[in-house]
Amino acid sequence: MAQTESQLAGERLARLKADFQVEVLGEWGESGSGAGGEARSGAWTVAELDRLHGTLSLLADAMGGSGRFIQNLVNVAVKKSDIGSHGGEALAHKVSFSVNGSFSAWTVIHEFAHAWDARHNWGLAKKLEKYTGGHTSKFQSFFVKLFGMSDSAFSKPENLPGRRGRKPGCNAAGYFYGDKPSGSNWKFNRVEDFAESVAMYVGWERGNALSQHARNRLIRYTLNDGEKDAFNVPDNWPFYNKYFYPEEGDYAKTLRWRFVDELMKGRILSS
Ligand SMILES: [Zn+2]
Repeated sequence: MAQTESQLAGERLARLKADFQVEVLGEWGESGSGAGGEARSGAWTVAELDRLHGTLSLLADAMGGSGRFIQNLVNVAVKKSDIGSHGGEALAHKVSFSVNGSFSAWTVIHEFAHAWDARHNWGLAKKLEKYTGGHTSKFQSFFVKLFGMSDSAFSKPENLPGRRGRKPGCNAAGYFYGDKPSGSNWKFNRVEDFAESVAMYVGWERGNALSQHARNRLIRYTLNDGEKDAFNVPDNWPFYNKYFYPEEGDYAKTLRWRFVDELMKGRILSS
């Protein structure tokens, strides 16, 4: 007898729990369960549970195995909820994905990195900031903006090439990133930097579900002025090259890659 969708989902849920201590909350089932043939809001398909498991395996492998993953994150509940326009949200022991549309492997790693950081009271982001030579100062940011040295408007970004607030300190948080992140915008701060740095590390040159995204993040700085990147955003890429493009285009030569590598290998924290 063929297994039903809910039996298959049950197996996947048990595997997520056993391998990663990750508990998926909500309903599951094939689209078609709803009256109109669409998936119920907040429901998970077996394909999504498989994508979640496969992506968490990448993070666990980077950490040195599922035992290390469980030590680092200690029980995470995952659900889909109505969180507006962004793809995900995270606190210690809790990750939410948007009910609108599906989630990417990149979003999974980004949000689980936040959950890991949150469990350390956002201290991993602080360590990254320090390791890469960055700092956060709203005061200094105010003067950069006041004297017209910012690539944004005074108190907000503009949706125009060269005006999105990508330069150090030219963001809402007053975050002066050090070394070279893979990107920055008005919403960038050390917490987002940490989550993006973990996703870049997991994806960079490993031939997995994050790798093309990671490459796309960097090759845009070699585009011509005004060209659109893989995310459909036009910008003054040659101008930004010096802030973001790593030596020889190799992300593994950045301080962020090295920091995450040390963290994954347990040389920065013991738990
Ligand atoms: Zn985030």
